[in-house]
Order: sequence, then structure tokens, then C-alpha cells
Amino acid sequence: MSSKILVLPGDGIGVEVADQTIRVIEKLNEQGLDANYEKDLVGGASYDVNGEPLTEAVLEKAKNSDAILLGAVGGSKWDDVERSKRPEAGLLGLRKELELFANLRPALVFDALVDASTLKNDVVNNLDIMIVRELTGGVYFGQPRGIEDTSNGKKAIDTQVYHDYEIDRIARVAFDLASKRNNKVTSVEKANVMETGVLWREVVKETHKDFSDITLENMLADNCAMQLVRNPKQFDVIVTDNLFGDLLSDCAAMLTGSLGMLPSASLGAEKNGKRYGLFEPVHGSAPDIAGQDKANPIATILSLSMMLKYNLNKPELSNKVENAVQQILSEGFRTGDIYTDENQTLVSCSKMGDLIIERI
Ligand code: NAD
Repeated sequence: MSSKILVLPGDGIGVEVADQTIRVIEKLNEQGLDANYEKDLVGGASYDVNGEPLTEAVLEKAKNSDAILLGAVGGSKWDDVERSKRPEAGLLGLRKELELFANLRPALVFDALVDASTLKNDVVNNLDIMIVRELTGGVYFGQPRGIEDTSNGKKAIDTQVYHDYEIDRIARVAFDLASKRNNKVTSVEKANVMETGVLWREVVKETHKDFSDITLENMLADNCAMQLVRNPKQFDVIVTDNLFGDLLSDCAAMLTGSLGMLPSASLGAEKNGKRYGLFEPVHGSAPDIAGQDKANPIATILSLSMMLKYNLNKPELSNKVENAVQQILSEGFRTGDIYTDENQTLVSCSKMGDLIIERI
């Protein structure tokens, strides 16, 4: 049966990078993908037409799709719109409604871009790690929260809360991924000073009993931050909570050099043999270069590659896409964000799309 992909380009360069990625889908359809795609609006583009950043109709389409590919949302045009109708609310709405609790961010260093990292070549060459961040719980959502007046002046409260089922389900995603990679999971918390860290460690240990082939290691979050820049190649899959995941995934991302190269996936629970998945680049709508055909489409094309691997069960097509990207880079083609010297060939967003498609 054909897979259904909902494409939500969004705003700014989201539209340009999504267009190139659709061309890759079409090319892969000639090679056995068998996917139908449909485009719709999200973010500011949806607000302009519908007065909402995410309509019920689009949400329904998302629920009926096998996977969602998103470009980016946002821009200063919508700065004065009330918070619940801002472009970002569209993205948050999708994550919430589809219960996308697992955020996957690979940090992959392509040979040809090894010099784009601020770290030494031998520390980052061939780096391939995956950060799995819990996305719907923890301190960003815990109650009580707020700022109160007290007799001692103002008081601010945030609350870190985790239930065992939230830890168990994210740990399962991490162990599962590790089984398709190098069989190692590093679970990261602060069990030395936080109760949620103690429970996190306990539950992960219990869940690990179902994955005896995978090596489990526990690490404190502060140590993990150090180890990521000291010796990142010791890691395979890192699993951690929402707050630590936010910080550590940005840190790991920068090991690789450029924002225009970073894909991500957000996965939901498995229901009736189906797992919702939203695939999107890490970058935003880049208003400074939007509409100029300058954006790097690789992060979005690699997000499609994650979709092929993790949602559509087409690992061989995913490898084809990654190899095409690898090849283009080693041939010296670069969009502006990763262009570093005159021996390279500077290309536009659409030209980069052409080149990748030719090599798939
Ligand atoms: P940004 O990621 O849009 O841009 C940061 C810088 O990186 C800019 O100089 C931009 O030109 C460059 N850049 C980003 N992606 C690139 C690409 N693919 N190719 C070449 N250069 C690229 O972040 P920002 O400027 O902080 O935010 C702009 C807007 O995007 C804001 O409205 C923000 O809220 C939104 N945003 C959305 C998402 C998302 O949709 N997931 C994520 C981050 C920011």
C-alpha cells in the first residue's frame, strides 16, 4: 500500500527547502518508494489564510498520514499576533496533538565538512551519534509554575515532573534505535541531586531488561556535556530528559558545523502498528535569506532520509539519499552557509536539489 506523506512547508525558507525535498520524494518514487504526498499550510502561512496557525482540517490530515515533513515556521511579520495564534503555536499544536514525545537529533559529521567543526579533525571525523530527548514532559510543562509576590519579594517556580511511564517509553525508543545502530545507550540525568534523576535511572535500568543485547551506561548531565566535546565518539545513543536534551542536542549539533545540515525527527507512541512521526530540519525560517534561493536544503532532505529509515521502513532508500549528500559534498558543491573556500563551487538551493537528485 502507498505511504501518505503530509508536507507542511510553513514559512520563509521552509517553502524552498520543502520544495527540493518533494523533488527527492518524486525521484525516490521512481525507485520503489511508492509514496503519495500532499501539501498544506502551517504556521504564519496558515494564519494569513485561515486566521489559525494549525487548522482542524490539517491536524486531521496529519493524523491520517504515515509521516509529516515540515519546513520551518515563524518570522517577524507575525510578531504582534497573540501568542496562541503565532506560527510556533502551529508546530507546538502538532507535537501535542500527535503526542510526539521522542525527539531524535543525529549529530553526523560528513567527511567533506570535517573542517567546519570548531573541534579537531580527529575528535569529530566519522562522528555519528543520536540524541534522544524526551519532548513532552519535564520542567517545561510541570506544575506548579509561575512568578509570585511574597513577603520576601518575587518568587519564580518551575517544577520538574516525570512519571515512570514517560521514562519507560522514551527509554524503549532509545534501546530500539541502538539496536539498529551500535548497540549502546547512555542514559543521562542528575541522579546525584534530583529526585527525577533517581527515578529516571531506576526506570531505565528496569526497561533495559527487555534489551539485553544493548549496553547501558548512566552518566551525569554535567559530565555528558564535557564528554561531548572531549571525546564525542564514545557515544552511540544518548537518552535524556527535556531540559538536558535541549542543551545537549544543541551542543552535539555544533560538533558538526552548520545548522543547514541538521535533520530531526519527533516520534509518538506506537498505536495499532503505527507510530506518528514529524520530520523537520533543526533550523528556522531564516528570514534573512528567505525567497532568495540561497537556503541549504540538506537538513530537510536528511529529515526525509530519517523518515525513510524510522517511519516508512525503507532503510535502503534512506542510505541512497545519505550517500548522494555525501557525494555532492565530496565533489565540492556548497550552499552559502557551508561554503568555506574558493576551491568549492557555490550553488543555490534549487541547484543543490538538482545535484542531489541526479546522484540518487
Ligand atoms: P534560523 O535557524 O531561522 O536562522 C539562523 C541563521 O542560520 C540565519 O542567519 C539563517 O540565514 C541561517 N540558516 C538557517 N537555516 C539555514 C539553511 N537551511 N541554509 C542556510 N542558512 C541557514 O533561526 P532564527 O533566525 O533565530 O529564527 C528565524 C525564525 O525562525 C524565527 O521566527 C524563529 O521563531 C523561527 N524558528 C523556527 C523553528 C522551527 O520551525 N522549528 C526553529 C527555530 C526558529
